[in-house]
Amino acid sequence: MSMRLETDRGAGPAAELRGVAKAYAGRPALAGLDLVLPRGAFLALLGPNGAGKTTALSLLLGLRVPDRGEALLLGGSPLDEGIRRRIGATPQVSAFPPVLKVREVVAFVAAHYPDPIPEPRLYERFGLGGLAGRQVGGLSGGEQRRLGAALALLGNPEVVFLDEPSTGLDVEARHLLWDTVRSFHAGGGTVLLTTHYLEEAEALAERIAVIHRGRLVAEGTRREITSRIALRRVRFRAAAVPDLEPVARSAFEAGVVTLYTPDADRLVRRLVETGAAFSDLEVLPAGLEEAFVSLTREEEEA
Ligand code: ATP
Repeated sequence: MSMRLETDRGAGPAAELRGVAKAYAGRPALAGLDLVLPRGAFLALLGPNGAGKTTALSLLLGLRVPDRGEALLLGGSPLDEGIRRRIGATPQVSAFPPVLKVREVVAFVAAHYPDPIPEPRLYERFGLGGLAGRQVGGLSGGEQRRLGAALALLGNPEVVFLDEPSTGLDVEARHLLWDTVRSFHAGGGTVLLTTHYLEEAEALAERIAVIHRGRLVAEGTRREITSRIALRRVRFRAAAVPDLEPVARSAFEAGVVTLYTPDADRLVRRLVETGAAFSDLEVLPAGLEEAFVSLTREEEEA
């Protein structure tokens, strides 16, 4: 007698990575990453280019297998066909033969799902109406992204994985996509989205997990993470780096002090209070890369 283990539909996270490591030709892309996507959550995986976001997603989707650790999807294996039918993901658009028409790709993907969104509604929701008869290979980058997002949601999935969905989209197309993803989530859907835009994570997600160089360096609510990431860069000429708070990181080169801070107003007030001589004060937004580096250091020092 054979016994079939039913996957649990109600309990447990929608997806989970437990201590996963993955290397490409000996170079680590993920180094012991833990990540939990609870059911009904909207999590953004934020990190700079090469952080390991796509790799993390590919392990959850069963496209790659971890060297170490475990990837779980809806309580089971990401390699399980039955489980995969309950999720949606933005495909690598380059995976489709470029000569196929949009409507052929849509029909091909729809055939894998028991209850797909009817084509006209799909086209309307993703602004794809005029593209149905076009060959995939001839679509612009933005049009391909839109098609990718449509394919991810096409099967009415429980969980959707979106890999950098709005890269290359113009403002209108990005907002259309955001609205569609928001309404999917409002209807009870679980979302994991990767992005290297803080604004995108901030606009959409409830929680943000920051990864840098294959490791989780911060995880929290949108507000917690935004306040730690939205650093300012305060720069001035001085003889030495003054001892000031709050400073995430500092540098001193050729008589120029650079301080990265979550609160530039407070920092500048303190600087003036010290009475130290300084000149050429500048306050600028710091790049995200700086924030990622600072978070990585905090993590290493903890
Ligand atoms: P991006 O924002 O640029 O898409 P990412 O955070 O998604 O980056 P990954 O694509 O997961 O990062 O890449 C993580 C690391 O693994 C990078 O150093 C990348 O060069 C490397 N890498 C990814 N895929 C491969 C591959 N197929 N072969 C070799 N190295 C790879």
